[in-house]
Amino acid sequence: MRAMILALVLGLIPGHLLATVPEHRPVPGGVAVVDLGTPSDEARPTAHHDERPVLVVDHQGHWHAVVGIGLDAETGTTAVHIEDGAVEFTIEHREYAEQRITLDDDEQVSPGEETLERIRREHAEIQRARDTRSDGEPASLQLELPVEGRFTSPFGLRRYFNDQPRNPHNGLDIANDPGTPIGSAASGEVIETGEYFFNGKTVFVDHGGGFVTMYCHMQDIDVANGDRVERGERIGTVGATGRVTGPHLHWTVYLNGEAVDPLLFVEGEDADFNEAD
Ligand code: ZN
Repeated sequence: MRAMILALVLGLIPGHLLATVPEHRPVPGGVAVVDLGTPSDEARPTAHHDERPVLVVDHQGHWHAVVGIGLDAETGTTAVHIEDGAVEFTIEHREYAEQRITLDDDEQVSPGEETLERIRREHAEIQRARDTRSDGEPASLQLELPVEGRFTSPFGLRRYFNDQPRNPHNGLDIANDPGTPIGSAASGEVIETGEYFFNGKTVFVDHGGGFVTMYCHMQDIDVANGDRVERGERIGTVGATGRVTGPHLHWTVYLNGEAVDPLLFVEGEDADFNEAD
């Protein structure tokens, strides 16, 4: 009994995270932390945004939704929907920098029919992994950088390849020498690995509750589907596979299926370095 009370006091009841939540940053590519108004000694509410279930955690004695906001989200008023109502919040503007890249290999810019078919197939597989929402919640919402190195392309860059507009950059690029070990940003389960046309050798790790990380362009993959990995545990090495201009890790963080700025989850890192002047 005493141990039970102590566990309650310390928040050690399994499956109940007393969360260190990321900063409330309600912008496209950011994260909204929304107080659902329910004390956390009541049952955990289910919450949706954009018709997708979102993560709900115990923060400061209240249930809070932690909502990933897509880079393509419109600014203005939106809402987290709960069973008996909705809690509004405002998506604010964030200006991301623009980048123009010249690629010589035309197949990489305007792929032929056979390649397009491969890309479509891979896209479906990537989407499945990205949208994974396993039961349970992340052990932590704080991530560690998977590899040391120079930040090259920041998250959110609006990109043009040979003057053709492309999707904005949905991750953070960290450059380092080929073969440099990459560690998982947090504990979780490997849910997909593959070698893709654009992303090269890639690993997806599911951290629970719709929190998923993706690691691309690897030289070697050291894990397989179903493996449990700890925070910092080696999952592979930096490489230059897929569509790249040099060896680096492309690292994406997904929350409720939306790619969000990884640095919002890394303590001591400044997520604002990638904004346009
Ligand atoms: Zn990248």
